[in-house]
Amino acid sequence: MKALQDKILKEGKVYPGNILKVGSFLNHRIDVSFLMEMGKTIALLYGETGVNKILTIETSGIPIAFAAAFYMNVPVVFAKKSKTKNIAGETYVEPVESFTHGEVYDAFVSKEFLTADDRVLIVDDFLANGKALVCLSKLCEDAGATVVGAAIAIEKGFQHSGDRLRMEGMRIESLAIIESMDGNTITFRE
Ligand code: 5GP
Repeated sequence: MKALQDKILKEGKVYPGNILKVGSFLNHRIDVSFLMEMGKTIALLYGETGVNKILTIETSGIPIAFAAAFYMNVPVVFAKKSKTKNIAGETYVEPVESFTHGEVYDAFVSKEFLTADDRVLIVDDFLANGKALVCLSKLCEDAGATVVGAAIAIEKGFQHSGDRLRMEGMRIESLAIIESMDGNTITFRE
């Protein structure tokens, strides 16, 4: 998505540890009309795939998931993160390591909101080492739901989890794939 590449070049800031900050439109302040455009693009990519639910993880995945869900006319479920165990039997729980904080959390979804009837599109803001995406896939597996694919706003291609997961057969559509981040010079995969 050319408009996203341009916005990253204009507003993104590269921090140590391969972190890209896009707080001006995606992660802190939310540029609603721009996110709705991103959501529309995701909806076009996954049209005619029978998706009936979008799954994301709190917090940063929620706005982009919401935008895609609006155009796909499906509900969003977000996995909640907790440092404590949740009530066994009522939730699906999978561990996930946070890329930005380095801690391991439990991510959980109520069994009520993810079932074997679901055809799920996983949506997230970033794809780095793939931990969040794998965690969300496992939650779907626990529920017996079908993962149709994933839609990511910004994939950091140089961290290669997207390539690995695609090789394993997962459909992943990223609106922008960063090939390299060298200081503040950002190059995209075309
Ligand atoms: P992964 O699980 O793929 O290693 O990391 C994905 C998660 O970490 C995303 O949900 C996102 O919130 C966060 N993340 C990873 N890399 C970045 C980054 O460069 N910038 C920001 N803002 N968040 C990131």
